[in-house]
Amino acid sequence: MSHDYDLLVIGAGSGGVRAARVAATHGAKVAIVEEYRVGGTCVIRGCVPKKLFVYAARMADTFDLAPSFGWQVDARFDWPTLVANKDKEIARLEAAYVAALAKPGVEIIRDRAELEGPDAVRLVKSGRTLRAKTILVATGAHPFSPDIPGKELAISSNEAFHLEALPHSILIEGGGYIALEFATIFAGLGVSTTIVHRGERILRGFDDDMREGLEAALIGRGIRIIYQTTIKALRRAGKDIVASFSDGVDAPFGAVMFATGRVPNTAGLGLEKAGVTLGERGEVLVDAYSRSSVSSIYAVGDVTNRVALTPVAIREGQAFAETVFNNNPIAVDHSEIGTAVFAEPEVAAIGLTEAAARTHDNIDVYVARFRPMANTLSLRSERMIMKLITEADGGKVLGLHILGHGAAEIVQMAAVAIGMGAKKADFDRAIAMHPTAAEELVTFKSPSYIYRNGVRQG
Ligand code: NDP
Repeated sequence: MSHDYDLLVIGAGSGGVRAARVAATHGAKVAIVEEYRVGGTCVIRGCVPKKLFVYAARMADTFDLAPSFGWQVDARFDWPTLVANKDKEIARLEAAYVAALAKPGVEIIRDRAELEGPDAVRLVKSGRTLRAKTILVATGAHPFSPDIPGKELAISSNEAFHLEALPHSILIEGGGYIALEFATIFAGLGVSTTIVHRGERILRGFDDDMREGLEAALIGRGIRIIYQTTIKALRRAGKDIVASFSDGVDAPFGAVMFATGRVPNTAGLGLEKAGVTLGERGEVLVDAYSRSSVSSIYAVGDVTNRVALTPVAIREGQAFAETVFNNNPIAVDHSEIGTAVFAEPEVAAIGLTEAAARTHDNIDVYVARFRPMANTLSLRSERMIMKLITEADGGKVLGLHILGHGAAEIVQMAAVAIGMGAKKADFDRAIAMHPTAAEELVTFKSPSYIYRNGVRQG
């Protein structure tokens, strides 16, 4: 049977775009189908606009500290200006993505694609059917909303990027990346911010010292955190939304946002019809080479629910294209991936948490807590925390966790050394750059405490 394309990619987000470009560069005839905007969640309504908002919120911090350095600042914030400037930058990036696809000859089809079989895709708007030797599903994920009465009154991160005006107050449900990042954005921009989380502490899965430290910092910045509680119902009351909590309390807020996880975009795609096996959350189940249960259909990125991070999707897209179109099989190693939460202060980490490392082996733990130099002229008591976890007696570095300004930048570079198997002695060999925060990592003398046979000592 003749095919229209060697590769048809569904979804022009980070993973799909990388796969399409690389496959086309290797000579494949490629089309990419996108029903919304080119760039995907990260570029259009995720990492990029979020970080721009984070910068805006951080200005408040700078203004707050300014008097201790002798400055008098009369700062006023205008939300429409931020949104308009952000939209301009996102449009520029989208155009750059379109150009990057066009360069190696990828055809962009603005439509919705649904699978009709292992090598066939129907375009919903145009009604055309396209055939491709290989199909890549890179459709990402969408925000999950708890199924409660009045859930339609709440926004998700998608809408948060386009609010007409800032609310006077906001209630955010969730204790993960999006909840904490948006809580610090809204709070930094002057919105009275409350987090409600079903768990006992924010950021499940992160190192406990980072979780506690961030919690203290958020509370110190005026963010209210309600634990072991969920929203049971929402109703409108004038301009406000009243949230009914699981503990029986009712309270009004200017806006309510769910940041309660994301669900793979597989519904209505025709995957089952094509014979593709899906997992419990609707994710496409794939092997190490991103191949689904159907040999001509692959999937990368959030739709596979492996590690839902943009750089991982990009790596998976690249590996897929190398494997299938360059006869160079690459399986992405998902074992040691650095991650950052762009809250204020920032949290970044790579490797094992203390709780995980202590169950594996004898370990040494080095911890530094200090007031960042920028705060020392002010009354601000917020601490930066750095934790290095190594094998016993100066062995290999197993984990690095940082809370504070620049955490993500520091961990990104330390990830190179840790990926090479750096030991404590390798960190010690580096001469400190002074005065910096990161110098703490190369000047640790003796462990703060150790674990031997799982028992904490010292
Ligand atoms: P997360 O998984 O990080 O957090 C979801 C939060 O919602 C958790 O605290 C979870 O609680 C809670 N939750 C889940 N279901 C319910 C429910 N039914 N009722 C109440 N609470 C619930 O997801 P996010 O939505 O914050 O982000 C999605 C993903 O996107 C992240 O996991 C991350 O991979 C990626 N992302 C990465 C960013 C970055 O790299 N900086 C930024 C933003 C997103 P519990 O802990 O108890 O499960």
